[in-house]
Amino acid sequence: MLNFDFYNPTQILFGQGRIADLNKAIPASAKVLLLYGGGSIKTNGVFDEVMTALGSRQVTEFTGIEPNPSYETLMKAVALIKESQIDFLLAVGGGSVIDGTKFIAAAALFEGGDPWAILEKRGTNITQALPFGTVLTLPATGSEMNSGAVVTRKSINAKLAFSSRHCFPKFSVLDPAKTYTLPVRQIGNGAVDAFVHVMEQYLTYPVNSPVQDRFAEGLLKTLIEEGPKALANPHDYDVRANLMWCATMALNGLIATGVPQDWATHMIGHELTALHGIDHAQTLAIVLPSMLRVRKEAKRAKLLQFAERVWDLREGNDDTRIDTAISKMQDYFEQMGVKTRLRDYGLNSSHISSLISALETHRMVALGEKRDVTPAISQQVLELSL
Ligand code: NAP
Ligand code: FE
Repeated sequence: MLNFDFYNPTQILFGQGRIADLNKAIPASAKVLLLYGGGSIKTNGVFDEVMTALGSRQVTEFTGIEPNPSYETLMKAVALIKESQIDFLLAVGGGSVIDGTKFIAAAALFEGGDPWAILEKRGTNITQALPFGTVLTLPATGSEMNSGAVVTRKSINAKLAFSSRHCFPKFSVLDPAKTYTLPVRQIGNGAVDAFVHVMEQYLTYPVNSPVQDRFAEGLLKTLIEEGPKALANPHDYDVRANLMWCATMALNGLIATGVPQDWATHMIGHELTALHGIDHAQTLAIVLPSMLRVRKEAKRAKLLQFAERVWDLREGNDDTRIDTAISKMQDYFEQMGVKTRLRDYGLNSSHISSLISALETHRMVALGEKRDVTPAISQQVLELSL
């Protein structure tokens, strides 16, 4: 096992009816900025429940944080904070609203000039952030219990990630019943994003980490079992609860302890979203199967473990078991309604060179757990994904 630091200060308030506990979680004197997206919380009752829980606190609203939150939109919230007396942020929504709020929390107190520098330095230049909590409405990203965020700058087609220990939510409310109104597409996206988060931390090379491996395999098996049930029975509370906790546990630092991490699939995926507007999870479903096929030798030992322990494949030779496991994973993504080929999204070989150039511009030239995924290998992966 590798050396590690583990730090996660986010309090989780899990279960039906827990939005009411915002009243205890947020200081009574707080001047709150309530941040949300395109309005789903206005139609499904979440907004009203949040406002009731906030009681007589001073609340200002900031709406319109879009999927793949943009620097351009988020800077408007930073300006609003600077001209009002806001001292607490409350993000209500999915990963985009939460990620956007992390950027806003850090940018509002940033003293190093244009806050875009936060993205350029991947968050290493953050020294403080406004306190914030979240009410999660879409299980997928794990952003509700981690310190990372991804922000898009539309003007230059860049989608970059940052993280900072100052950007953990103080608390997150996870009420599985609030996910009943999710469109089918977002249920599928959420399961696939969580699945790929686990894979980026699990499917590398062995370092003798049986605890982390079995946690990871438990999460993958749960996503495989529960994901299709969420599509078939949209109002099954236990299914939603298990999916929600799975997605949080997939990226809250726990399974990352003491193991190598990959993230090449995410980095290539970010360019697909930035250049072509494809949903985050859709990009991962396109890239990961090919990534595993191209990097089969480097990942052989863990691929065999994945085949045996996650997909119960024990027959046939090593290569057959690995190939079957990758195909089963790809079938699972499709079963969740997430297409896995570039052509499914209208892209062809003529689109690959600009994606590779974007990776180079963003210095994504040595990716993966061994930093050996060069632009040439990323190109091979994308070609295999056509
Ligand atoms: P999202 O972009 O936050 O939301 C997608 C859509 O779902 C929005 O249109 C939203 O509508 C709708 N929605 C959310 N909750 C709903 C509900 N309960 N009922 C009905 N509709 C609902 O999706 P996401 O997958 O959670 O976040 C994706 C972003 O997170 C990407 O930018 C990705 O790169 C990033 N990400 C971050 C991390 C991390 O660790 N921080 C990890 C992976 C990905 P409204 O806008 O109207 O609410
Ligand atoms: Fe992700």
